[in-house]
Amino acid sequence: MTIYHSPIPDLAIPDESLFTFLFEGKVDREIPGTTPAFIDAPTGRSVTRSELKTACLSLGWGLRNIFAGLGGMEITRGDTVMIFSPNSFAWPFALFGSIAAGFKVTLANSSYTPAELGYQWKDSGAKVVFTHPVFVPTVATMLEANGASKEEARKRIVIMGVKDRNATAKGFIHMDDLFGKGSLSAAERFDGPLSNETAYLCYSSGTTGKPKGVESTHKNIISNCLMIRPAFPPTQVEKDVMLGILPFYHIFGGVMLLPFAMVVGSPVVIMPQFEPEVFCRNIEKYKVTISLIVPPVCLAILHHPATNKYNLKTLRLLMSGAAPLGASLIQAVHDKLKSVGAHTIILQGYGLTEMSPVVHILPRDQFLSKAGSAGILVPNLEARLVGDGGVDAKPGESGELWLRGPSVMKGYLNNPEATKESITTEGWYKTGDVCVRDAEGYYTVVDRIRELIKYKGFQVPPAEMEALLLQHPKIVDAAVVGVYSEEDVTELPRAYVVPRVKPRLGGESEAFSKEIQEWVQGRVAKHKFLRGGVVIIDQVPKSAAGKILRRQLRDLAKAESGPK
Ligand code: AMP
Repeated sequence: MTIYHSPIPDLAIPDESLFTFLFEGKVDREIPGTTPAFIDAPTGRSVTRSELKTACLSLGWGLRNIFAGLGGMEITRGDTVMIFSPNSFAWPFALFGSIAAGFKVTLANSSYTPAELGYQWKDSGAKVVFTHPVFVPTVATMLEANGASKEEARKRIVIMGVKDRNATAKGFIHMDDLFGKGSLSAAERFDGPLSNETAYLCYSSGTTGKPKGVESTHKNIISNCLMIRPAFPPTQVEKDVMLGILPFYHIFGGVMLLPFAMVVGSPVVIMPQFEPEVFCRNIEKYKVTISLIVPPVCLAILHHPATNKYNLKTLRLLMSGAAPLGASLIQAVHDKLKSVGAHTIILQGYGLTEMSPVVHILPRDQFLSKAGSAGILVPNLEARLVGDGGVDAKPGESGELWLRGPSVMKGYLNNPEATKESITTEGWYKTGDVCVRDAEGYYTVVDRIRELIKYKGFQVPPAEMEALLLQHPKIVDAAVVGVYSEEDVTELPRAYVVPRVKPRLGGESEAFSKEIQEWVQGRVAKHKFLRGGVVIIDQVPKSAAGKILRRQLRDLAKAESGPK
């Protein structure tokens, strides 16, 4: 067996709770409490690290001791709460306050429809949902569809953000109602073996099937923060400022912009969503030095006029993840930023929800010479590249990446079968990604054997889309695959469907495809829209066992030109 290690020495990982680690541990003692932790981009409001700690202990106390008295549900240590909101200033309070109170937190994509949200709500067993005032109708619809009366629905909602700003949130319990009435003397502890209890519950389809709850423990998250640090370019407290555009509900943002940013001591300027003009304006306004991004952001930097309009000279690091970023785009963005006076390193990282999340980072001094590579393995992880029949790939050959170490998830919630399929008895997590490792230890992701489409870094699980399409009365069979668009630097989901009655070629089939696209748009979050088109076929290619032959369809998609 060939096992690869990181060139960076392993680090000691404490067995403690995430809150203790972030706010009371060694890392925190090195950074002054007066350092800003989070800054609200639209208003400029900020909170220091020590104010955040005090507020979270207070909110944690309020959730445990006042919430039920105000008419909310009784929630206690070990219960699960959900956060369903775009990035906002209230987000870190909701997250760390819940962790301080001893809750598990399930993070939901803020563009979910009530049905998608309902799936995660039921599967995670969440008792209460933190949400932005604008999303109250979606949450209420979801709760009512799951059997709650209007009154019961109110018991389960906590409104994030400033009170009374929004009329839709009247009559609900606000986060503001729970602050300042008392304080936990200390956060709930998860020390020793208890550090293997779940802290985050993000959803990922894994290698196959529908989304599953990924149990990331306190120790998983602490370890990944510590493992990333020596592989990440050095940072300076009071000099570095991060711009937070990645959604907090995806584990890349949920770890890098929240606990990891706390570990490095860089304040995070929170933006509700990515918009190129506002992105550039905020870099100038807040003298941003670091931003974590996904590949399509590079396109905006390259082509949007705002790049020339604002002073971007402070920006020294862009780190892209969640999807592949090609060498030519890295070079082009570097040149573009240089032309406006910014000497910016553009790095790539590779990770997965199940690995809490970062596995590889490209060292900064190689960002052009090794552009396109995901970089070196972070410390504390072991890696194997496994070829057909479980045989290790020879040096320089490709194989499925298997990983072992302290950041491998505990498992899929209530799904021992899926857990067993993805983690071997020896503790290897099978990523479903095919990689090549060069002689110097740099990994490049060359293929994906897991059944997953990524639209701009967001997961689109084919099995979920296929189950939906089969509910359409005019469709008898369907398969959904990703088709890569160079223009958008992302995969686009494309459906191959077998209609009940085949439409005539030309206008009729175009109308049919359009009808299916629109029907899907009414039922799913926008990252799952069939932007790659709907293509009519006579038969979905399947193996003798009835498994969809996805590679065949992906090859077909490649042969067909561009999005349909
Ligand atoms: P998620 O769990 O949503 O973060 O998705 C993880 C998947 O995203 C991985 O299994 C990869 O297929 C893909 N991915 C993440 N980062 C990269 C990268 N730098 N290059 C290629 N694929 C990536």
